[in-house]
Amino acid sequence: MAHCGTLFIISSPSGAGKSSLIQALLARPSADGQLQVSVSHTTRGVRPGEENGIHYHFVSQNEFKVLIERGAFYEWAQVFDNYYGTSREWIDEQLAKGIDILLDIDWQGARQIREQSPSAKSIFILPPSREELERRLNARQQDSADVIRCRMDKAVSEMSHYNEYDYLLVNDNFDQALNRLSAIIEAERANTGKQAIRYQNLLSGLLAE
Ligand code: GDP
Ligand code: ADP
Ligand code: 5GP
Repeated sequence: MAHCGTLFIISSPSGAGKSSLIQALLARPSADGQLQVSVSHTTRGVRPGEENGIHYHFVSQNEFKVLIERGAFYEWAQVFDNYYGTSREWIDEQLAKGIDILLDIDWQGARQIREQSPSAKSIFILPPSREELERRLNARQQDSADVIRCRMDKAVSEMSHYNEYDYLLVNDNFDQALNRLSAIIEAERANTGKQAIRYQNLLSGLLAE
């Protein structure tokens, strides 16, 4: 079956609200199993409240290297001294079933995905200000002061890649940002080429002589 699911790449500086927006999007009735998030592999430590297999597949550096050698990743990158990667197999299965996939990945990963899948759509999320970004990183209470400083230092270089993305959103009012993100995804889902694959039976019935 031809692929009719869409890959959506979502990037932002750490703390801008990607994970919160993605979780809220998946909880909407309209997601209805038609939208899923890819669970990345990472070598970073588990944060309080995170679960292996749900937030990430947590692996050692050695396990990560073995997966690279096996060609298991669609893309992988080093972000903040840790390795992160998107596994290929599960994504291909979902896309073939017509399910749309969200990838919460950094700009380096986004470049690798675009090269392999030019039809992927990418969305960059900005915080409303630097001060608010820092406030959110602190409010999340999941990273040490050193880690937060490192993420704030990297925020400007991550944001400098905004113009490589198809869509740009500011996550100031959460519900407004969520509605806009949802609108982008719904619009792509209604793409004629993809709908023609999804609704081939309906179309052949409707168009029969
Ligand atoms: P948070 O974004 O602050 O919650 O921090 P995370 O530790 O969840 O993510 C760290 C960075 O790694 C972010 O920029 C993510 O977009 C990026 N990232 C997560 N998963 C992947 C992945 O599979 N591939 C790539 N290339 N980047 C990823
Ligand atoms: P990311 O995944 O981009 O690192 P998170 O989704 O973890 O960011 O959000 C960082 C923190 O900011 C969380 O504590 C989250 O609840 C909060 N947050 C997200 N969006 C908003 C918003 N629009 N207004 C206020 N706080 C927000
Ligand atoms: P965190 O450590 O806060 O969970 O994630 C830090 C950053 O890594 C985020 O910007 C996130 O988008 C990115 N990231 C998470 N998973 C992946 C991945 O699989 N590939 C890439 N390239 N980046 C990832």
